[in-house]
Amino acid sequence: MSNLFIDLKTPITGPYKQPIGLFINNEWVEGVEKKTFEVINPSTEEVICSVAEATEKDVDIAVGAARKAFEGVWRKTTTQQRSILLLKLADLVEKNLDLLAAVESLDNGKSITMAKGDVSAVAGCIRYYGGWADKIEGKTIDIDPDMFHYTRQEPIGVCGQIIPWNFPLLMLAWKIGPALATGNTIVLKTAEQTPLSALVFAQYVKEAGFPAGVLNIISGFGKTAGAAIASHMDIDKVAFTGSTLVGRSILKAAASSNLKKVTLELGGKSPNIVFNDADIEKAISWVNFGIYYNHGQCCCAGSRIYVQEGIYDKFVAAFKKRAESNKVGDPFHPETFQGPQVSKLQYDRIMGYIEAGKQEGATLETGGGRLGDKGYFIQPTIFTNVTSKMKIMQEEIFGPVCAIAKFRTEEEVIQLAHDTSYGLAAAVHTNDLNTAIRVSNSLRAGTVWVNCYNMLHHALPFGGYKESGIGRELGEAALANYTQNKSVAIRLGDAIF
Ligand code: ADP
Repeated sequence: MSNLFIDLKTPITGPYKQPIGLFINNEWVEGVEKKTFEVINPSTEEVICSVAEATEKDVDIAVGAARKAFEGVWRKTTTQQRSILLLKLADLVEKNLDLLAAVESLDNGKSITMAKGDVSAVAGCIRYYGGWADKIEGKTIDIDPDMFHYTRQEPIGVCGQIIPWNFPLLMLAWKIGPALATGNTIVLKTAEQTPLSALVFAQYVKEAGFPAGVLNIISGFGKTAGAAIASHMDIDKVAFTGSTLVGRSILKAAASSNLKKVTLELGGKSPNIVFNDADIEKAISWVNFGIYYNHGQCCCAGSRIYVQEGIYDKFVAAFKKRAESNKVGDPFHPETFQGPQVSKLQYDRIMGYIEAGKQEGATLETGGGRLGDKGYFIQPTIFTNVTSKMKIMQEEIFGPVCAIAKFRTEEEVIQLAHDTSYGLAAAVHTNDLNTAIRVSNSLRAGTVWVNCYNMLHHALPFGGYKESGIGRELGEAALANYTQNKSVAIRLGDAIF
């Protein structure tokens, strides 16, 4: 791998230089073992390029760079300077929005409209945490006239961050924003399916002026580079977004290595509840967005839809029409809503769930098949006549597949909503304020949307109850994930113990 940049092009922004090395210490490097892996375009199933693959040795080198920056230059950087750097980075993201979005669509398959929305949210999130960087404060606590007590919010240290492929840049922003604002340094591993946009982004990290070693971005696989991060003895904290299965292994690795702090944002099987008195047209639109946005590849996807009996038949008929009218196809077409699933593996998994739904006796209302013969496109799929025990009602499908069930009473639907090991998100559609608040307060989920869905914002905490995770990302809440609360107690008088 002699050249660490290659010439690529996207259908809408044209030619550009794609970095393909590992970004360590503000430099592009090959992996120590000189391994590479192929990146696939999910719309065409063709190879886009190969990128450097980080192994355990590269993780070690990146951690070394992050440690040196943490103990040195980053500690000496004022909080205002941290803020300025983050704000500059946000500006650079905005300036390069078209390219970042196009690379995201190319690599991940998401529609260009959605990708632009993602990149704009990336800039918003980084800017938001830029605003926090010089507002991290401790307290003075009066206890005893002969003592002076204060607390400090200190950075944790070197943070390992492992992100998934469904929102490659946005997940990166959610992770690095609070960590950098609070003065940590980072080794971030992207998902092996989607390394490209983060590598383009890394150029702006250097251009913004972040000191070498503060933010290292590596491409690699979970079982090797990811596992090396989780069990590394010199990483002080690990933040992970991905499957519940891998989340458990991260927690175990942290426990059996150096007890690094852990935050986890994991899977979901979120209930989307529509009451008789909801505005049915609007509810259909939000339910559609709730499940099919990002091709169903959202941890908070509203995949279990509960509709009250009075409007059930009408809802199913109209929702079916709506799902069938979603534009599925080329992510670079401006009207496309749904592109391909990210990989062959995901495509096969989803098809497996569709098969399981049929075999367990659910009714396939629409969809269920592949679209076209090239690319991992799946028709928007709806099942009805489902029971709580079915696989498609219990397991996270992570694709454009939902199941609709009928309910009678509020008590019944709350029970049904809770019949899952997850607790990431939920939604309620009703025109009755009392129902909205009562049900929202009863649901065991980290986020509840009322008369909408997927309305995330960087100022609002996001995270899971139950097996959907540990800790909260975004908002002020995320700062606590990246700080140690230190108490200092100073003796003022002459007394000795
Ligand atoms: P998915 O199944 O949707 O691909 P994963 O949870 O497997 O989701 O992947 C999310 C992220 O976790 C990716 O960056 C992946 O490389 C990483 N990962 C996968 N397995 C491990 C592991 N055993 N240890 C650490 N990271 C892992």
